[in-house]
Amino acid sequence: MLPEELAAEFKELGLPSFRAKQVFGWLSRGVSDFADMTNLPRDLRIALAERYEIPALTMLRKQVSAQDGTVKFLWRLPDGESVETVLMRYKHGNSVCISTQVGCRMGCAFCASTLGGKIRDLRASEILDEVIRTGIEAQAEISNIVLMGIGEPLDNYDNVIRFLRLVNHPEGQNIGMRHISLSTCGLVEGIDRLAQLNLQLTLSVSLHAPDDETRSKLMPINRAHGVDALYDACERYFQKTGRRISFEYAMVRDMNDSPRHASMLADRLRGTGAHVNLIRLNYVSERGLLPSTEERVREFAKRLSDAGVTVTVRRRLGSDIDAACGQLRRGQMRKP
Ligand code: SAH
Repeated sequence: MLPEELAAEFKELGLPSFRAKQVFGWLSRGVSDFADMTNLPRDLRIALAERYEIPALTMLRKQVSAQDGTVKFLWRLPDGESVETVLMRYKHGNSVCISTQVGCRMGCAFCASTLGGKIRDLRASEILDEVIRTGIEAQAEISNIVLMGIGEPLDNYDNVIRFLRLVNHPEGQNIGMRHISLSTCGLVEGIDRLAQLNLQLTLSVSLHAPDDETRSKLMPINRAHGVDALYDACERYFQKTGRRISFEYAMVRDMNDSPRHASMLADRLRGTGAHVNLIRLNYVSERGLLPSTEERVREFAKRLSDAGVTVTVRRRLGSDIDAACGQLRRGQMRKP
């Protein structure tokens, strides 16, 4: 609950609104037991514990990359399911990559998170707790959030929006919307709904191919909304929010990495102000697809920039702990 909602709830119990503020403050600092909320009277702590639960995450595993200090956490959810979160350390601050669902039902051909399908949505409190507990367990101040872990954020729309309001709240984590990126495989209705909220976050669209033929092979969602519909939704999003879209493009050998693909992409994006993030596919053994060669990636990037499209090539972080994009899965796979 947001502090305002908590205040309304507490009012019904005859409690003054500053109590809600106090409880929200404790929860935001990761306190998961009412008994530890020491500025509340003892009787009240007992009464709250009888009435409410604090479904906190508990840490199952923490892996630290020897290469770059990236940390991957596996959390246990209150019902025994689990998800992963990754902390990346950059010069400009710490960024946390969070999961929004237990598993995923989008079925992208290159991604490990969707193996085994979707088990359930995460609650807003669980998504928030990924951020809070990562900060505590890694002793890191979190300045940026990317919704690029396990799950499709726009397939868990209400919980994700509630999470954004919680993490953005000045009495909580107070992370500005401009420090948050939400990545989607391209749910057109979800993009339109999000546009109406006019949040100042960065929308990343996982494009991965400029044309229907290639994209439908990689991403089943493209059979529901083709690339034309997706580009149109992105344009509406930009018109409504004034925020430029960032397109993710994972380079898959001999699938989407040809000069022809680069030209098609450039033709679409030239002049739109959109930004392309190229990333070499991370190899996922179950998936069989191979990363493009580094040379191909460089050529592709050059073609885009020569055509006037801004492009960056992503660095890989945490690959020694399987923390890189598309590799998050162990946390949600039940042991056979
Ligand atoms: N469901 C959302 C967010 C999670 S995935 C989305 O689709 O955007 C985060 C990013 O990692 C997406 O761009 C996704 O396409 C990409 N990704 C998935 N598997 C990958 C892999 N094996 N190598 C590189 N990127 C991958």
